[in-house]
Amino acid sequence: MAEMDKKVIPAPPPVPQPSANCCNKKGLRMNGLPPSRGYSSVSTATRDTWERLFDEGYKADVYINTDNGGIIHAHSNILGMASPVIRGMLKKAKSRDHWRSISISGVPYDAVRVFVRFLYSSCYEKEEMDEFVMHLLVLSHVFVVPQLKRACEQTLELGFLTIDNVIDIFQLALLCDTPRLSLVCYRMILSNFKPVSETEGWKVMKQSHPVLEKEILVSLVDAENNKRERTRKSNEKKIYLQLYEAMEALVHICRDGCRTIGPHDKDFKVNQAPCKYATCKGLELLVRHFASCRLRVPGGCITCKRMWQLLELHSRLCADSSICRVPLCRNFKEKIRKQVKKDEIKWRTLVIKILRTKSILVSPFLGRQ
Ligand SMILES: [Zn+2]
Ligand SMILES: [Zn+2]
Ligand SMILES: [Zn+2]
Repeated sequence: MAEMDKKVIPAPPPVPQPSANCCNKKGLRMNGLPPSRGYSSVSTATRDTWERLFDEGYKADVYINTDNGGIIHAHSNILGMASPVIRGMLKKAKSRDHWRSISISGVPYDAVRVFVRFLYSSCYEKEEMDEFVMHLLVLSHVFVVPQLKRACEQTLELGFLTIDNVIDIFQLALLCDTPRLSLVCYRMILSNFKPVSETEGWKVMKQSHPVLEKEILVSLVDAENNKRERTRKSNEKKIYLQLYEAMEALVHICRDGCRTIGPHDKDFKVNQAPCKYATCKGLELLVRHFASCRLRVPGGCITCKRMWQLLELHSRLCADSSICRVPLCRNFKEKIRKQVKKDEIKWRTLVIKILRTKSILVSPFLGRQ
């Protein structure tokens, strides 16, 4: 996956825990706190009661018809409270001998059973969730049961997604309006595009949803371009930063002296502290070469040419040539004044870019002694 996809998905915040003394069973005001229905987790006994109510169908009044003639007994008041959509269905359903009947089709009987059980007790077995998670996601979306939807999303997100099923789950996530899951799938597709595009799911989607395929391909190109652009910018920044450091080291050599090179009027070799400039050593060699090279003319030796450029750059960054110890600083300032406009723009741009990498807005301290 691309860098953004490797990010660890944050765990959901913990459910608020009950504060031991804040309210009694009836939620009456105690200890000066406002009335509350409490957040206490349901006790096992209570949960068992709801589970038994579902399993035994005591005083049930609804038949839920499923595919292949399956029937689940349930209670209209519980279904109606747990799902506004089922409440609407029950309103329309005709009553016969105190029994009403609704249908949930398109998913296996066992999946509907897991779904209805969740409506009673918010419970499910892990194996059942794993087996029917995609059906349960659809059911929770269609019948508007957000807690179950979240549980399905989490199951899918944490360990269920594979190269082979990501396209199917992506389409399902879009269909069921689960933005977070859609995004997780989408990132996985983009960062594993080659293997994903070879799966059966991709081929089917290409046929059934060509628009979606096109969208993915377009964003793939965008993502690659963005990545390339980011790399280019970061490399560019590195170069400007190195140039800035070279400029600092140049002033340091000409002002303080370092190792074997420095101003003629200063005894810089005694008590030399370790140099803090990484580019100082390279610069020292460059200056040494520059001082002794016979081809020391612009456009001559490539090493000297580099030195000329560094000196000119220094001059352009230098705040005050009159007190600067860097050789030719003043000469370049003079030359710059006479320079043609085209070159001037090129140099100015470079100076601005170097200063920006260090977040400096005006010409820096380079010339100060
Ligand atoms: Zn140094
Ligand atoms: Zn040279
Ligand atoms: Zn200078």
